[in-house]
Amino acid sequence: MIVIDLIHNLTILIALTFLAGLIEELFKKDTTLNLVMQGILFGIVTIIVMLNPFTLTEGLFFDGRTIVVGICTLFFGPLSGIIAAVIAAGYRIYIGGIGLFTGLLTTFGAVLTGYITYLIRKKTNFRFTLLNLYIYGLASNVVVMLLFLTIPSAFRGEALSRISFTVMVLYPLITVIAGKILSMQEDKKSYNETIKKSEEKYRAVHTNAPIPFFTIDMQGKILDCNPEFIKELEFSSDEAVGKNFIGFMNAESKMLFEKILNELNLKGEVQPVELVLIKKSGNYIIIILDAKCGNVRKDLPEIIYCVFKDITKQKIAENELILAKEEAEESDRLKTAFLQNISHEIRTPLNGIIGFASLLSEKDFDKENIKLYADMILSSGFRLLTLINNILDISTIESGNLKINYTSLNLNSVLRKIYNRFFSEASEKNLKFTLDLGESDEKSNIESDLSIIKTVMENLLDNALKFTNEGSINLSYNFIDDKIILKVTDTGCGIPDSEKDKIFNRFYQVDMSISRKYEGAGLGLAICKGMLTAMNGTIEVTSEQGKGSEFTVTIPLRKKKKNNDDFILNEKARAEIRKILIAEDDDAGYDYFKLVLEKNSIEVERAFNGLEAVEKIKNDKSINLILMDIRMPVMDGYEATQLIKKMNPAIKVIVQTANFTDEDRDKAFESGCDGYLCKPISPYELYSSINKIYNDI
Ligand code: ADP
Repeated sequence: MIVIDLIHNLTILIALTFLAGLIEELFKKDTTLNLVMQGILFGIVTIIVMLNPFTLTEGLFFDGRTIVVGICTLFFGPLSGIIAAVIAAGYRIYIGGIGLFTGLLTTFGAVLTGYITYLIRKKTNFRFTLLNLYIYGLASNVVVMLLFLTIPSAFRGEALSRISFTVMVLYPLITVIAGKILSMQEDKKSYNETIKKSEEKYRAVHTNAPIPFFTIDMQGKILDCNPEFIKELEFSSDEAVGKNFIGFMNAESKMLFEKILNELNLKGEVQPVELVLIKKSGNYIIIILDAKCGNVRKDLPEIIYCVFKDITKQKIAENELILAKEEAEESDRLKTAFLQNISHEIRTPLNGIIGFASLLSEKDFDKENIKLYADMILSSGFRLLTLINNILDISTIESGNLKINYTSLNLNSVLRKIYNRFFSEASEKNLKFTLDLGESDEKSNIESDLSIIKTVMENLLDNALKFTNEGSINLSYNFIDDKIILKVTDTGCGIPDSEKDKIFNRFYQVDMSISRKYEGAGLGLAICKGMLTAMNGTIEVTSEQGKGSEFTVTIPLRKKKKNNDDFILNEKARAEIRKILIAEDDDAGYDYFKLVLEKNSIEVERAFNGLEAVEKIKNDKSINLILMDIRMPVMDGYEATQLIKKMNPAIKVIVQTANFTDEDRDKAFESGCDGYLCKPISPYELYSSINKIYNDI
């Protein structure tokens, strides 16, 4: 009977331990609420236990309540123990009877033994084992047995003989079972807490790590990544996880990463490697990736743990340093080459000048060769002058003192003159030299800097002629989208790819050796580039070695506002000019000037040759300006100008001629002319020249 009751109590106790575990899940361990709840739960269980007691006589019964309150105190401390004991005592008082005093004593006695053991455990931190639970069970029930001595003497003997075995043998065993279940729950709970804490710790490291950290499987698929990774690549975690890491790389890095994966699969680790990743925005970053294989547990497959460091800024700075170093070395090389070059470029013409001048100064010099010597001195002088001009130009550009002078000009006319200037040189080298004007004369009136256009085109043609020994040279232009596109194309030696950018650096020449066959100081293209940049223009080259080159110049197009500007005569000129004499043997030439001048209602007269011009001046005092052709029958323009200027220096003479060399020009001014125009002459050029003469008075 007692045994059945005990089994009943034991079942309740086991149910109780599970409920205790549940409460502890719901409320945090060691919180007062948890302790109170445990006390109430164990207290209720004492009542249940008391509902099914082993009764000796009315008011004297035995049950497992001492086990319940004892275990409660042992596991949850004095607060829970006392609450459970008070509930048990309350119910026991309610039942009353002769065993009440002993009942209360044993209940609080169990609390005491529980509490003492609780304190020992707190101090020594021992773990519950079957043995120490049994010792506790035995000790607490010895106390209970001792307290049973307070049972009224009439029942004491029978009571002790009937329940001693149960209390001393079965109660300790029940205590062991209940204690073990509770201690296992306690262990599980603390294990879970340890796991949770370690998980939290791992998460915190993962989330707060100041470097991008991620894991991939052995094929490169991203399994997990931290916020730094997301920040670097700008993809959200959803967009990154599940994708293959290789998908974030440029082509070169992809190949490298495939090798790394193979190595990781074989060896489990690799040396840090540099990769280029492409962010969501399309920008790239350069990283150093460090990766190693590992697994969470031995029974789980291996994965790859990766971290990387963004070294983009470092790399850019490194490259800049390398570039700066290369530039410094290049500049040093250029300086040496320039000094050798410039010395050669100065000495060679000086040699010519001094050599031929000393030949001329010999007493018995060969008089027949006087022209040849003089020509040699002149050409050496011009070569020296070009060099000095180039040095002056480059220093003006580099000091930032280059001024842009926008004036109205007719591009067709400017290019025709440049073309004419180079034509004979090209013919001498048997080169086909062509000019393609992309726009009509009328449309080619623009505003630009004449001197820059001339310098740039002359430098390019100079080079084309210098570096082309057979084939052709072409000069062309057209207007595209508010830009003037000028091209100089040749079939010369061409430029190697590696040199195409460098040739625009000052002093740079593809062949910088002492034995080089082309003259030049390496300044022409640097001057072109400097001047064009100042005009917001560009210069580029396409070239194939051995086949030729094409230089393309782009200048912003500033069209002249009104075409009528071509025919503007300033006030002074309008007031001064009475009649203009056109000395021109060619009818078309005369008709053209007449038409252009009549736009301003200027009266004109014609002379067919120089002599007739002189006669007309003598007879017609109203003529005060002459447009004088040079090549005319009977008397040429130079002679006629000289005679007229002798007769009346106030008469203005503008020479208009097809001769364009510097010598022709000098000769014209020596004969006394006031202005000089090279055919073809646009209306704008004619009026500009007339206006200039009267402005200068
Ligand atoms: P220079 O002509 O005095 O040497 P530039 O600055 O005009 O100086 O040209 C620099 C270099 O560019 C030349 O030395 C030559 O090597 C190369 N170059 C320029 N124009 C041409 C061209 N049309 N064909 C081949 N090489 C050229």
